[in-house]
Amino acid sequence: MSDNCLFCKMVKGEIPTEKIYEDDQLLAFWDISPQAPKHFLVIPKKHVSGPGDLAVEDDGMIGALVRKGAELGAEQGISDCRLVINNGAQAGQTVFHLHLHVLGGRQLTWPPG
Ligand code: AMP
Ligand code: ZN
Repeated sequence: MSDNCLFCKMVKGEIPTEKIYEDDQLLAFWDISPQAPKHFLVIPKKHVSGPGDLAVEDDGMIGALVRKGAELGAEQGISDCRLVINNGAQAGQTVFHLHLHVLGGRQLTWPPG
C-alpha cells in the first residue's frame, strides 16, 4: 500500500468506486472518465507503480489480471475489447498504480493517439 496513491485508497475503501469485481488480489471498477461506451479498470490490490515495478513473483497476478480483464469484458458484453496498460507519463499514464484499461462497445481505431 502507498499512502498517497489514489488506487490504494480505492482498495482500502477510502474512496468510493463503482465496483465490478473483487477478489483477494484484484479489483475492477468503472473508469470515471470513460473513453468508450464500456470502459473499466482492473488493478492489483498490491501497490505496483507500473509494469517496470513488477517482480517475478507477480507473474501469476499479472496473468490473472489480464485473464480477468478479458473475462469481465465478455460478461459486460464487450468480448471484443482493447486491453491497455499505459506505461509511463509519455505513454499517457496518470495514476502510478498499475492498471489494465478494458475498453469496448464501439469500433476502436488504430493507431491510438
Ligand atoms: P492512466 O491515464 O492510464 O493512468 O489511467 C488512469 C485512469 O484512471 C483514467 O482513465 C482515469 O479516468 C481513471 N480514474 C481517475 N480517477 C478515478 C476515479 N476516482 N474513479 C475511477 N477512475 C478514475
Ligand atoms: Zn497504489
